[in-house]
Amino acid sequence: MRVYNFSPGPSMLPLPVLEQAATEMTDARGTGQSVMEMSHRSGDFKPITENTGNLLRELLGIPENYRVLFLQGGASLQFSMIPLNLAGVEQGEQKKRITLVDTGIWAKKAADEASKYAQLCVAASSADKAYAYIPPPPVPAPGSAYYHITWNNTIVGTKWPAIPGTGSVPLVADISSAILSEPLDVSRFGLLYAGAQKNLGPAGTTVVIIREDLTGSAPSWVPAMLRYDIHLKEGSMYNTPPCYGIYIIGLVLEWLKKLGGVEAIGEINRKKAALFYDYLDASRAFYSPVDKSCRSLMNIPFIPRETDGPRKKEIESRFVAEAAAAGLVNLAGHRLVGGMRASIYNAMPIEGVEALIRFMEAFEKTIP
Ligand SMILES: *Cc1c(COP(=O)(O)O)cnc(C)c1O
Repeated sequence: MRVYNFSPGPSMLPLPVLEQAATEMTDARGTGQSVMEMSHRSGDFKPITENTGNLLRELLGIPENYRVLFLQGGASLQFSMIPLNLAGVEQGEQKKRITLVDTGIWAKKAADEASKYAQLCVAASSADKAYAYIPPPPVPAPGSAYYHITWNNTIVGTKWPAIPGTGSVPLVADISSAILSEPLDVSRFGLLYAGAQKNLGPAGTTVVIIREDLTGSAPSWVPAMLRYDIHLKEGSMYNTPPCYGIYIIGLVLEWLKKLGGVEAIGEINRKKAALFYDYLDASRAFYSPVDKSCRSLMNIPFIPRETDGPRKKEIESRFVAEAAAAGLVNLAGHRLVGGMRASIYNAMPIEGVEALIRFMEAFEKTIP
């Protein structure tokens, strides 16, 4: 039996995608081989990677003057690659300034890496309230090479309510846990990046979408594997790309296109999230700690209303165990936040959210 998997990542994939991958496992499209066995430079693999790239452009509405890369190293390596390529300087030169908004643990990690290569200005932070809101967008620090935001904060469950205006400073956004979850105007950004394992496919592939004018300024000492210009020149094939991941992402994008694309999934996701937030806001046992103005559609933390420490702990551990026994798995909150969290990415059907709510309604009755 398939479970409803509420993991923040790696997370659920659409069943039709897994089934198609299974039928193609040993003989993909009449080639007599698995995609895993194909040479990345072969005529067999070429249409697979082209298909994934084209579908991503089509579904996200990526303008002509943007390039798409399929890299490795996760979103976490982008925390380094972005400052190295967009703000890196030759040895001995004065570091460039960058602006970053601190909205959670991933933003903090991006900040830590960027501060190694650039003069970091954290222009606003929501750390004062445990990151349960998105601060009003600060203006970029003068002369910033770029302005970094974490669009959807996977751990605390916030999402930017609107794209901040940054004037001529390129806006860079980590969209790991929100890519393709609803329409997003790519033209407002200089660079977007996402690890695949939340909303796109298996772990191991990172998507980078970069405006052409930002691709070429890494200083000479930056290693080849960390340079956008080299990966772009080689069409994401400077070395062996994450071939199987690119193939599965293609299947996921085909599934999404058949469903009606990003507009359609956005509507479904809003409905799913509204169902769950409406339930939480009326619940006598659980609540959402996140400010209503910036609640995530994808990651929804919820906390027992019980305030007594040991009793609260007991509710949390019993909840997670009993939910798992009912086929609703990976509902524990992040270890740094506590409570519970339901991640309801594109592949989570509305039936999964309904099943979770039914389970919670019954669970409430067991709380004295
Ligand atoms: C999961 C996640 C990351 C880390 O991704 P890796 O691919 O594991 O490096 C970074 N940022 C956000 C917003 C995430 O959700």
